[in-house]
Amino acid sequence: MKKLEQLYEGKAKKVFKTDDPNLYIVDYKDDATAFNGLKKGTIEGKGVINNRVSNHLMKMLEKNGIPTHLVEEISERETIVKKVTIIPLEVIVRNIAAGSLAKRLGMEEGTKLGHTVLEFCYKDDALGDPLVNEYHIYALGAATKEELDLIADYAFKINQLLSDYLKDLNIELIDYKIEFGKTPDGTIILADEISPDTCRFWDSVTGEKLDKDRFRRDLGNVEGAYHEIMKRLLGE
Ligand code: ADP
Ligand code: UDP
Repeated sequence: MKKLEQLYEGKAKKVFKTDDPNLYIVDYKDDATAFNGLKKGTIEGKGVINNRVSNHLMKMLEKNGIPTHLVEEISERETIVKKVTIIPLEVIVRNIAAGSLAKRLGMEEGTKLGHTVLEFCYKDDALGDPLVNEYHIYALGAATKEELDLIADYAFKINQLLSDYLKDLNIELIDYKIEFGKTPDGTIILADEISPDTCRFWDSVTGEKLDKDRFRRDLGNVEGAYHEIMKRLLGE
């Protein structure tokens, strides 16, 4: 497998073409951004941790029947993935009120939600990724009803699998963002990443935040929290 030209550089990852037209290589960076790019910084070692954590979780999901883009981890920061056309939606799943939902609905952070909440944001940096409902999604042509039903079904299954898996490691899955994409043959699979950048992880015992909120909110020991997640998941 040969790494060819860079296709895209995002806020957290670079995407490269390969000599296989169906595969890309993603390269995880230490750069961190928050508030739609307004806050910028570096979290040392984050790229390595997110690459390994995301692959570890995707492997677990794949074993449990969720199709993912994961092909092979080829270095500390690089992974071969199936090339997809990203469905331009941030699929957000919430178990406990936090972040923008706590603010929007006037709930105290940490309140257990009476029902799992599924939200969609339209992926558009210029618009600040606005919250949309299913009708907006159909109107925008971002996904069909059939596709959205499948995405919702996967999102709830992933929630059960991830929550149960993390619970055993004393990690409470508060909320997270996932992305899906379409392979050239039209199959919808889980893409992008699942990491402390894209999830809220709280220690089940102490309630300590072990995710990007430490960076967003200047809570200190950001690197330590990312390391703790890797240690609990991968044992190192
Ligand atoms: P952003 O674009 O928000 O700054 P990243 O820095 O993580 O985010 O960039 C990675 C980009 O690659 C994202 O736009 C993501 O949607 C896209 N992506 C993730 N997985 C795949 C994949 N398997 N195929 C094609 N694009 C992907
Ligand atoms: N999230 C993400 N990328 C985004 C927006 C949100 O990964 O662009 C994740 C975030 O880490 C959290 C969940 O989605 O786990 C819900 O985020 P929220 O809407 O509360 O937004 P925030 O408080 O991050 O602005």
